[in-house]
Amino acid sequence: MQTALADFIRDTPEGREADAILRKCVHCGFCTATCPTYLLLGDENDGPRGRIYLMKQALEGQEITDKTRLHLDRCLTCRACETTCPSGVQYGRLLDIGRRLVEGKTARPAWERVKHRALAAVLPRRSLFAPLLKLGRLARPFLPRSIAEKVPASTPAAGAWPAPRHARKMLALAGCVQPALAPDINAAAARVLDRVGISLVEVKGAGCCGALRYHLNYQEDGLDDMRALIDSWWPYVENGVEAIVMTASGCGVTMKEYGHLLERDPRYAARAAKISALTRDISEVIDAEHARLEPLLGKKGGRVAFHPPCTLQHGQNIKGLTERVLALAGFELTPVPDSHLCCGSAGTYSILQPGLSGQLKRNKLSALAAGSPEEILTANIGCLAHLQGGTELPVRHWIVALEERLQ
Ligand code: SF4
Ligand code: SF4
Repeated sequence: MQTALADFIRDTPEGREADAILRKCVHCGFCTATCPTYLLLGDENDGPRGRIYLMKQALEGQEITDKTRLHLDRCLTCRACETTCPSGVQYGRLLDIGRRLVEGKTARPAWERVKHRALAAVLPRRSLFAPLLKLGRLARPFLPRSIAEKVPASTPAAGAWPAPRHARKMLALAGCVQPALAPDINAAAARVLDRVGISLVEVKGAGCCGALRYHLNYQEDGLDDMRALIDSWWPYVENGVEAIVMTASGCGVTMKEYGHLLERDPRYAARAAKISALTRDISEVIDAEHARLEPLLGKKGGRVAFHPPCTLQHGQNIKGLTERVLALAGFELTPVPDSHLCCGSAGTYSILQPGLSGQLKRNKLSALAAGSPEEILTANIGCLAHLQGGTELPVRHWIVALEERLQ
């Protein structure tokens, strides 16, 4: 694609990056066929090719309107388009640049600004989110259904965390909303890894990975969260931890991009690259330890439908690995049509775009139920909580189900 970026951005690092991405796009439109919002709305501007064109216009200095912002807001950042694109267009990076530009050049209505600010203030802070969740539970019977289904009825017990007794050590990210919604996930991961000779360590005081604020378009605040997390972990990295294990693929995809996101920060660039290099999804770790795990596996697993989060299959490009780990562990995986499509959770999308998100959730749940599973397993707390709000079937993280298979 030919480009002519405007003077105000052409010679900036963002301008050069956006220009290189735009020039790769040949406008073939293959990506539209796998875009969830295009499939629902049928509008070219609600598909990747149209959004790329809108961002090109903005970067070239043409008029930016509220409609431009609306079409970018409707994007889930699911990155299915990146998986489909034959030309390697890094749509997600372009969207980060485009959203920041469009946000700065348009006036978002006051109510929307308040919602964005509140989400950015509450969700990354465990000390605020946990008490608000408790309050939400108390008020649940009086809330409208659309809000009540976002508040889980109970929190599963975490169980004991094994003492750090092994020479092999890995770090775990506690995360921001996960400890309040599902503390059993990291604890189960720690117990499974303990059985194969690895001690999993959560660092006290380590906060949010930065994804929430970064993707709400408070990009500088998100980068600050990333720097703070690197500082919390750095002594452990210097002490030689083997890996950083992610049980939430939404955090994992961001951490794998720390190196890129902080590459222009001279104080943090090298550390951020090291953190990215150490980051592994829990499926990658368990797959590598299969030989040690196999003798420990006991009773046969049940019939499960696996929902691969977009941040795992498109963002981290990890496809089919968790399914393989589960099949090797004796679970029967039921067929799930259109498993490449987003469930509509997408970080804060389910709150900011409830109509589209609800439709995607209903579609996803009927696809997951197609093979009559006993439960739904997934790999990201956002998808888990979102899907659980719309079904009577249990929805759990797969590592929790795998732990139950150990003798
Ligand atoms: S992003 Fe890729 S698939 Fe989509 S129009 Fe551009 S080149 Fe084609
Ligand atoms: S990220 Fe997802 S919703 Fe956004 S344009 Fe790409 S496929 Fe469509």
